[in-house]
Amino acid sequence: MANNSLFKIEKLSKVFEDGTKALDDVSLTINQHEVTIIIGPSGSGKSTLLRTLNLMEYPTEGTIEFEGKNILNPNYDVYEHRKHVGMVFQNFNLFPHLTILENLTLAQVDVLKRDKSEAISKAMTLLEKVGLAEKINNYPNQLSGGQQQRVAILRALLMDPTAILFDEPTSALDPEMIKEVLLLMKDLIQTGITMIIVTHEMGFARHFADKIVVMDKGGKIIEEGHPSVIFNEPKNEKTKQFLSNVL
Ligand code: ADP
Ligand code: MG
Repeated sequence: MANNSLFKIEKLSKVFEDGTKALDDVSLTINQHEVTIIIGPSGSGKSTLLRTLNLMEYPTEGTIEFEGKNILNPNYDVYEHRKHVGMVFQNFNLFPHLTILENLTLAQVDVLKRDKSEAISKAMTLLEKVGLAEKINNYPNQLSGGQQQRVAILRALLMDPTAILFDEPTSALDPEMIKEVLLLMKDLIQTGITMIIVTHEMGFARHFADKIVVMDKGGKIIEEGHPSVIFNEPKNEKTKQFLSNVL
């Protein structure tokens, strides 16, 4: 196998209780160490797809394998799965009542059972790398959005995950803060961690994706491929339309 697949998604559909079809027959392979970027208009099922990979949502049909295991099996350990598959949200989702350092050590101690001193030292190393070491005793609302999102990314990273899912990580940020978050994500790519990213940052997608997945209304994947193909010679009319609206 040239590329080891990490996630193997087959014929996934999700119909919500109110009848909304958020995913329609989605099949996709996510390769280990690759950057997969999902694009498409609002309401096309991008978040729902990400959330199924983290078992925050269960599909109504189809299968998902992670490292060869069926994660939809009722006996599969969801809690264990989330140690390996981290998630970064549009609105950061830091714990508001905990300091930055507490946000970064809580799960290391509670979930990974690390010694507190080791957890602190790992958090400090990363905070220093991103220039946020002086914020350890601040609360999230005392940081800018860009700073909060970088802390949220570090929090995911401190679990030593196999993959991190990013759901529009820069969409809630002012333009001048988008860059600092994208720079950190670029650094993560160098580490070889598998990243699955929903974003509207087309420059980032074009430069850093190994694979672009285009979704459209109704929760379908309409096209996937290398960015050079998707951006320069898209085959699907709807991909062309979407790109002409965002580029
Ligand atoms: P995207 O992230 O691409 O904007 P979503 O995955 O959030 O799309 O949503 C896909 C579709 O599913 C939309 O029509 C949305 O309104 C609907 N949807 C999302 N979550 C729910 C829910 N909990 N209940 C009912 N419909 C939902
Ligand atoms: Mg979304």
